[in-house]
Amino acid sequence: MNAPTAAMASHVMNTYNRVPIALERGKGVRVWDINGKEYLDALAGIAVSTLGHDHPRLVPALQEQLARLIHCSNYYQVPGQERLAALLCERAHMDKVFFCSTGLEANEAAIKIALKHGVDRGVQRPRIVVYEHAFHGRSIATMAATANSKVRDGFGALPDWFVRVPVDDIAALEAAAAQHPDIVAVLMEPIQGEGGLHPVDPAYMQQVRKLCNAKGWLMMLDEIQCGMGRTGKWFAHQWADIVPDVMSMAKGLASGVPVGAVLARGAAAEVLQPGNHGTTFGGNPLAMRAGVETITIMEEDGLLANASAVGEYLRARLGEALADIKAVTQVRGRGLMIGVELDRPCGALIGMAAQAGLLISVTADRVIRIVPPLILTRAEADEIVARLNPVVRNF
Ligand code: PLP
Repeated sequence: MNAPTAAMASHVMNTYNRVPIALERGKGVRVWDINGKEYLDALAGIAVSTLGHDHPRLVPALQEQLARLIHCSNYYQVPGQERLAALLCERAHMDKVFFCSTGLEANEAAIKIALKHGVDRGVQRPRIVVYEHAFHGRSIATMAATANSKVRDGFGALPDWFVRVPVDDIAALEAAAAQHPDIVAVLMEPIQGEGGLHPVDPAYMQQVRKLCNAKGWLMMLDEIQCGMGRTGKWFAHQWADIVPDVMSMAKGLASGVPVGAVLARGAAAEVLQPGNHGTTFGGNPLAMRAGVETITIMEEDGLLANASAVGEYLRARLGEALADIKAVTQVRGRGLMIGVELDRPCGALIGMAAQAGLLISVTADRVIRIVPPLILTRAEADEIVARLNPVVRNF
């Protein structure tokens, strides 16, 4: 393998353990490195490249937009924001959208909505319920909302706005409510991504919805990793047949162009007013065009149904192929968000799989994450199984 990381180590901060390959182009679900080696991309830049690479309709649309206008400012009307916001609100049953550029920014906006919503109602020190194993980002507020000590530790005292409870345990949430009268919102990932690809029980999500209604709390869902069609519905919470008050998204929203969004409905959609929040890059014309085209192409090509059908097929095939490997304890997930859990830490599998021509990642130390582009075919799903099987078998 080539060693481009040696060059990176001199001027780029050491915030990632990088695999020593440098990718330079892609087509569909495949990417090639600078030495011409081909990989099947089962990671999609961590659930980002919804339409795969070099999409024949997305790229010309973006080229046209590049030549027209890349950026202006939120000082002006941006018609693309209205178009993308309308498409998102219709699919999520929400009223209004704030656009930003990353996932953590979307969660920051959600947290600010919850805090201000609380203060506006006379709660002096509002608190937000978050979950064990949750990941919400690495800004000051979102790392405080995150459970993982690798993310939180080493920065001194973090904001104490959060009350942490276990998932799927309504009694624990009710106990937290009794103990903290200043709770104003719940923030939850419908499928915990960095926490190990754990889907939350739909029945629990319905119980949380009811409790939020009873208490006047905002139900806020982080769909940054699991949303945007990945599970076979537009948003993962739709499997539980509920509607949140606030929802954050990013990653797959614009197929690789950085776009984040927080959606809200009812009173929550009116909390932020001029001066309360903003961002220079959020909602720029290029980003909005990428979001609009991504949604349009997903619908034209039936990618929700594809994510559901090919995802189920891939999960079943992985289950069969890996069934006799003792170290594999579970294959789980929904649609094209699949986790293969091992009985031991397996970070080394990332490099081994890359050598075998497969891009994957590992979350929560022992869960292989498979989140390929939503255009994946059954034949390509078979290839993922064929490339992963010997790697896990020889681990
Ligand atoms: N929330 C969830 C559920 C995520 O998976 C991530 C990223 O992995 C984030 C928030 C943070 O997003 P970003 O890295 O774009 O800031």
